[in-house]
Amino acid sequence: MSDPILHATIEQLGEVLKNHDSFVILSHVRPDGDAIGSQLGLGFALMAAGKSVRLINEDGLPENLAFLAGSEKIETPPTEPLEVEIAIALDTATKPRLGENALHAASKAKLWLNIDHHISNPKYGDLNLIDATSPATGQIVYDIITGLGLPLPAESRDAIYVAVSTDTGSFQYPSTTAATYEMAADLIRRGLDVGTLNSNTYDEHPYRRVELMRALLNTLRLSSAGSVASWELHDQTRIDLDLRPEDSEGLIDIIRAIRGVRVAVFFEELPDGKIRISMRSKDRGINVCEIAMQFGGGGHALAAGIRMAGPLEDARAKVLAAVEKAI
Ligand code: 5GP
Ligand code: MN
Repeated sequence: MSDPILHATIEQLGEVLKNHDSFVILSHVRPDGDAIGSQLGLGFALMAAGKSVRLINEDGLPENLAFLAGSEKIETPPTEPLEVEIAIALDTATKPRLGENALHAASKAKLWLNIDHHISNPKYGDLNLIDATSPATGQIVYDIITGLGLPLPAESRDAIYVAVSTDTGSFQYPSTTAATYEMAADLIRRGLDVGTLNSNTYDEHPYRRVELMRALLNTLRLSSAGSVASWELHDQTRIDLDLRPEDSEGLIDIIRAIRGVRVAVFFEELPDGKIRISMRSKDRGINVCEIAMQFGGGGHALAAGIRMAGPLEDARAKVLAAVEKAI
């Protein structure tokens, strides 16, 4: 293999897509709307162009995204490596975040494409298209599909919209641009049903998610004169409420929305004893990606995450101290 292309153009990606027939499309563990939406978006466009495509995710399809047309195509990794020419990683800031089994499934691919919007992405692909100005990988997928004149079937259209909607807090975060709204307008002109899609995305939560909210509120802390809000999910709560990983998706926005809060932090005890940390900043002067990277995590300036060793008390003390220092 020749040297990796660190800043691939859409045309260079297009050459790879055109000249090969078999693809495996991957996204990160504990997939969110942007991960699954980007996989379906690009996957169905390539399938409509006549390509052979497998959509693999380490953790499979979360229940809350099963309403997306075509989502049954998302598979957990097969035990034997797939006979594919090209692997495409979407929305995945570091290669290990694809998951061990997914990496094994893709291990026979001769060329890796890395398409993402995380500024911390170390460009682990043979061709890398990292656009940190894009609010969601779904929007990059849209740019690729439209830029190359690929087909945009209804499955891709709806999935791209949900990818971008969920990664922008319903088109609210400052990463949202005119191009984001223009994309949404174009998808609506192509027949997308805004009301139904938003209702399926935001008005169909399982009851246990509201019970989770109640449990989280009981752990709420405010520090640094009201500028840092945090709460935590204990493993016992997960067991008691029979929670799934996606149940906590987006809940951090509740404490991010408190007046005066500049940084919100969500601590979660994972079943393996590790601690997952989500951070959100409301202040462009406080870069939570930099804080996350001190602990081996990453993400974006205003939204970042970490997985670190427990116990929870130690992780909380270390991370909150780093946040205080940043403030
Ligand atoms: P969330 O808090 O929604 O899980 O993640 C916020 C952002 O941080 C996402 O863009 C996600 O990719 C990134 N992120 C979350 N957890 C981790 C992690 O453990 N490692 C890295 N490198 N990035 C993470
Ligand atoms: Mn994303």
